[in-house]
Amino acid sequence: MKNVQIIGSGFSSLSAACYLAKAGYSVDVYEKNDSLGGRARAFQQDGFTFDMGPSWYWMPDIFERFFHDFGKKTSDYYELVRLNPAYKVFFEDNETVEIPGSIEDIYTLFDSIEPGSASNLEKFINSAAFNYKASMDELVYRPGNSILELVTPQTVTRVNQFFSTVRSAIRRDFTNPKLIKILEFPVLFLGAKPENTPAFYNFMNYADLVLGTWYPMGGMYKIVEGMIELGKELGVNYHTNAQIEEIITSDNTAVGLRINGLVEYSDIVLSGADYHHTEQLLNPDSRMYTEDYWASRTFAPSALIFYVGFDKKLYNVRHHNLFFDEDFDQHAVQIYDTPSWPDDPLFYTCFPSITDPSVAPEGKENAFFLIPLAPGIEDSEERRQHYFDLVMSRLETLTNQSLKEHVIYNKSFCVDDFKSQYNSYKGNAYGMANTLKQTAFLRPKIKSKKVDHLFFTGQLTVPGPGVPPALISGKISANQILKNVKHELKHANI
Ligand SMILES: Cc1cc2nc3c(=O)[nH]c(=O)nc-3n(C[C@H](O)[C@H](O)[C@H](O)COP(=O)(O)OP(=O)(O)OC[C@H]3O[C@@H](n4cnc5c(N)ncnc54)[C@H](O)[C@@H]3O)c2cc1C
Repeated sequence: MKNVQIIGSGFSSLSAACYLAKAGYSVDVYEKNDSLGGRARAFQQDGFTFDMGPSWYWMPDIFERFFHDFGKKTSDYYELVRLNPAYKVFFEDNETVEIPGSIEDIYTLFDSIEPGSASNLEKFINSAAFNYKASMDELVYRPGNSILELVTPQTVTRVNQFFSTVRSAIRRDFTNPKLIKILEFPVLFLGAKPENTPAFYNFMNYADLVLGTWYPMGGMYKIVEGMIELGKELGVNYHTNAQIEEIITSDNTAVGLRINGLVEYSDIVLSGADYHHTEQLLNPDSRMYTEDYWASRTFAPSALIFYVGFDKKLYNVRHHNLFFDEDFDQHAVQIYDTPSWPDDPLFYTCFPSITDPSVAPEGKENAFFLIPLAPGIEDSEERRQHYFDLVMSRLETLTNQSLKEHVIYNKSFCVDDFKSQYNSYKGNAYGMANTLKQTAFLRPKIKSKKVDHLFFTGQLTVPGPGVPPALISGKISANQILKNVKHELKHANI
């Protein structure tokens, strides 16, 4: 039986491991940290369960499709609930908007904010639905080897949407600033500014407004646990505290890994660790991309995160809350154009214990705060404390309640932690942005062109940042391995 060694245990690695084990490989997953899940790890403290990374469960069809590939359903592993309202948005004039959990109610909401906008939204959503279907049925599952992969009967009718931006498309049809912010928010998940994101990506609005926001009871880590359980059923071996120090090559072929000082051999190496870091595990001649290449890419933001326990239940908030009460564009400039700590940051909070009593002790609230930041900026305890105080004060004012004296647990995570805990390039939180110049075949390659039997997966490859793309990336990489590596097993596509 051929053996594959997988570096890292993020969603892309967990996904690839399942597909490769199903195809008959012996699979070993090596994770440097003491628990599996990568950026989606969780930890428990004082009766709270904190998800450390993703909190938005979007595109439920992609998760369903993943488990279906193994004859399973998400409900075999976790219980999903649809959130209604999906989320709450706070604006600068003390106004708030709650996004309902059904598209019909969203049409009504739009009309109430900008009379007549529901019909524009319907047209916009129809276009987004078309793009979603064209992408998810085929495009995003392609390996990014050639520009021709983008040419389908659906995309040729929409070429203009690759050269116009989400921002211009939204501003053509909507004038109310609140609606514009609501519609521009979903593409932030792709890691770039709406004015740098092709209009074709409006399918994120379909994901948001039509497919809805879901939550796995017990927390996002339930997805990780489900995938590990599935992997174990398929025979995958998982190793934690397993730091990969070198990819061993012979005759330009990957033949194994140095793990905590010991060399273990294999037939194939697949890395789900950050791409830049993985290439540092090779000698410089074997790397495909130079430091200049990485420095010239647009990376998704880093983040300052606080995991907070409150000794009381909070009011005037929902499970997901977006604070757009400061200037959206100015914060974006400080992330992408002149990297610096934001003067007046936008931020996001999640209170999963509003939906799920199991993640906090009775009568208490579990909170996650996130401020997007420029990757690579200088991190310090003083700065973290400054922003914690700032966020608490703003939340107190906007929700009209006292909070600071109710904090019973607070842990921060920022640029330096992304670097030290995940070997993340410049401390990026979720990989490389999906701009026009960094889409599909223009992203770092799945298969090394310099080292045979070495493959990559994860948020820096195709299709890009986010949990659903990571699941897809794992499938694409597994497929590329099956197609590219000659061996005795007879495989069909998985
Ligand atoms: C704060 C935050 C919030 C997010 N919110 C959302 C959200 O709400 N919804 C959504 O869909 N997506 C969200 N994302 C994005 C999503 O979590 C990621 O895109 C996805 O989890 C990335 O998976 P991955 O497999 O590419 O990489 P990772 O999860 O980064 O996995 C890589 C793994 O490799 C390990 N590793 C690195 N170097 C080595 C080494 N030398 N040896 C061994 N192991 C190594 C790392 O420790 C890590 O575990 C968020 C991300 C963050 C950080």
